[in-house]
Amino acid sequence: MHVETLVVGPLGCNCSIVADVEARRAVVVDPGGDYAAIRARLDALGVAVEAIVHTHTHFDHVGCTAELQRASGAAASIHEADRFLYDILPLQAGMFGVDAPERADMDDGLVDGRTLHAGAIEIAVLHTPGHTPGSCSFVANHAGQTVVIAGDTLFRGSIGRTDLPGGDPEAILRSIRGKLLSLPDDARVVTGHGPATTIGDERARNPYLRPR
Ligand SMILES: [Zn+2]
Ligand SMILES: [Zn+2]
Repeated sequence: MHVETLVVGPLGCNCSIVADVEARRAVVVDPGGDYAAIRARLDALGVAVEAIVHTHTHFDHVGCTAELQRASGAAASIHEADRFLYDILPLQAGMFGVDAPERADMDDGLVDGRTLHAGAIEIAVLHTPGHTPGSCSFVANHAGQTVVIAGDTLFRGSIGRTDLPGGDPEAILRSIRGKLLSLPDDARVVTGHGPATTIGDERARNPYLRPR
């Protein structure tokens, strides 16, 4: 399993390519911008995009979904509870003084418990609301290796903000404690911005997750 992360777009969103290089298939998570850089990596790996998925629908995580979709023909998906955020993309982008991304043909295909595939890699969809109502985490498993792509739900030493429209401070803690911390300690966590971490490190050291 090859998982690589590129820092893209105006707010430094982590975009991940989850690839089965042998099968030449990949799932792209959060193509937040810099399409040319993402395309260059897909071409270097020699993989076709099977699906485009989003940890949530803030504008900085969907910045070049339309371009990637046009080039690949892949389905692009969010969770239905984030649909209202996609509908106000221009407003979201305007708050940060940037142009709204082009609209993609975005479906509501992210459902808790669904399994996506990148070749032989299985990617489970977990609905982890709190940062936004439709925030999801993706758990990629292959050959005993687990990588969690948590978006803006969990950061190294911190958690996502909940003061934006639809944010819920109790829900984000329920999501992390109930769904993410039950994963193995050695699972690598790709966060929405900034450095990666592991479930074990966050369980032990994240000040927001101290036992009550
Ligand atoms: Zn966000
Ligand atoms: Zn973000």
